[in-house]
Amino acid sequence: MNLTNVIAAIPDYPKPGVIFRDITPLLADGKVFQQVIDQFAERYRPLGVTKVVGIEARGFIFATALAYALGIGFVPLRKPGKLPRATLSQTYALEYGEDTLEIHVDDIQPGERVVIMDDLLATGGTVMAAIELLRRQQADIVECAFVITLNDLEGHSRLANAAIPYYTLCTF
Ligand code: IMP
Repeated sequence: MNLTNVIAAIPDYPKPGVIFRDITPLLADGKVFQQVIDQFAERYRPLGVTKVVGIEARGFIFATALAYALGIGFVPLRKPGKLPRATLSQTYALEYGEDTLEIHVDDIQPGERVVIMDDLLATGGTVMAAIELLRRQQADIVECAFVITLNDLEGHSRLANAAIPYYTLCTF
């Protein structure tokens, strides 16, 4: 799927030297957005997935649409303090400082087959924290799915080293 003309490249955002990949033109094009979700749905429909796990915030957009298409549940991984019931937390390193993701402990039962979704894979810090949370919940991680992978960063190698299956619709 060629998505290059519906993903905007924004130079020097959010800081000098960074090219930000912006998926909002993709979302604004109803046909392309539908094709993207259909492609994920065709891939995961035969695989016995029981939950789609989305990473705040852009991951929610794709994960909820996929969960709806498959007729299965959606589970949010959120920034700290947003989930009202008992949670597990996982802190991970950023380029400067750290961040945390949380999951409601009763949103996933042991042995559930999950797909973890985010819009974009860069260094892999975010998705590795998500994987750790799902492992602590004894989930079976079917695959991690992204719309975009930044090939020059090490996220895809970190997933390969961790033997986690990984799928992306496009790379830059
Ligand atoms: P990582 O943890 O370094 O792999 O960064 C991935 C996370 O940062 C994802 O949650 C993305 O939404 C976000 N992110 C990093 N760079 C970009 C970008 O260029 N466009 C959109 N999201 C980005």
